[in-house]
Amino acid sequence: MSQILLLVEQKENRRLLLEWLAVYYEVLLPNSGENSEKFLPFNQSFDLAIIDGLALKRHWQWVAAQKQAEHPVCLPFLLITSRSDVGMATQFIWQSIDDLIIAPIEKIELQARVEILLRSRQLSLTLKLSHDQLDRTLQTAQELNEMKTSLLYMIAHDVRNPLNFIIGTTQLLTQYKSKLTDEKTQELLDKTQAAAKGIDQLLDDVLLLGRVESGKTGFCLLPLDLATFCNELVEEFQSSLKLKPQTEPVTLIFVNHSPSAMACLEVSLLRRILGNLLSNAIKYSPPNTEVIFELKLTETEAIFSVQDAGIGIPVADQGRLFESFYRATNVGRIPGTGLGLSIVKKCVDLHGGEITLISEEGVGSIFTVTLPIDRKT
Ligand code: ATP
Ligand code: MG
Repeated sequence: MSQILLLVEQKENRRLLLEWLAVYYEVLLPNSGENSEKFLPFNQSFDLAIIDGLALKRHWQWVAAQKQAEHPVCLPFLLITSRSDVGMATQFIWQSIDDLIIAPIEKIELQARVEILLRSRQLSLTLKLSHDQLDRTLQTAQELNEMKTSLLYMIAHDVRNPLNFIIGTTQLLTQYKSKLTDEKTQELLDKTQAAAKGIDQLLDDVLLLGRVESGKTGFCLLPLDLATFCNELVEEFQSSLKLKPQTEPVTLIFVNHSPSAMACLEVSLLRRILGNLLSNAIKYSPPNTEVIFELKLTETEAIFSVQDAGIGIPVADQGRLFESFYRATNVGRIPGTGLGLSIVKKCVDLHGGEITLISEEGVGSIFTVTLPIDRKT
């Protein structure tokens, strides 16, 4: 039922209006009833107010504030005035009032005006609702668009490294075909194949991420032997470290604190989280230092930490590291696009986990990822 507020000081008009309107609408009267001066603050919501000249004079600021608060929805005010007072209505009054009715009031005219004004309000409410819905749809579309863009960057970012490797080895194989031993040729071919598989795996991961983010798929939480998984990952990194022409490479050490390390996690997301953290730790560490990768399992969580004795991260940069493309000010000539950690953060969020960082410039960094797990022993 529509609610009509009566702000009418003239007693007889107020009595009449109440009698006529109460049949069809819920009529609200200010608390003091007789004394409209004391009716503020009035906090109840209403669909239409009927006001007379005296009350409008007293409360014009309140009227303007109510209309402003409901904007862009129309909150109609109907003025009751005498024929002689109409001429005194100023431009200002027409900004607060939507219609007027001349006293002595006729019942049929009152009903018609009230209905028209209530319909205007109803229409504006419907319009506002559609507008809000449109806004939400637009926002979802924008979010999807941003997600697609970031996925594209992710692909470009993670495909480039193995692709450069493939280009390099195939050039090597072409140029030095006759000079390479069979053994060396086979080694290069194996590595090329591994790099191509890595790209294939990455595309699978990206497609999975896209599906998870757009809500089209649930997680594929499979029971995983975390110790074996981490060991294999570490071996992959160690063999790529051996490839580097460094005399004193970084040493990567894996420490597992859990005798039984079975847990349900999403393998491809986990690979991207740990892979990015390990590659950062190695990349930002000087030769002949250690990177320590630790795994701890509790009943409810898997905790992974990657600690290095590298260049560290200035305090001023630490808050923004998980933003796409953000790189700390002390990276110097070390290459990178600033996307790895934003990917890590996304994967951790998708898992409902958290990532923390302790770092000191020139001393080193510890990244810790805590993921909730469905423990399988
Ligand atoms: P890429 O996109 O190739 O991974 P990146 O390594 O620069 O490039 P992120 O992995 O997102 O990008 O890391 C963001 C920034 O955080 C880095 O540029 C670096 O400044 C800082 N950073 C991350 N890990 C470490 C670390 N272990 N030690 C020191 N600085 C780090
Ligand atoms: Mg990185």
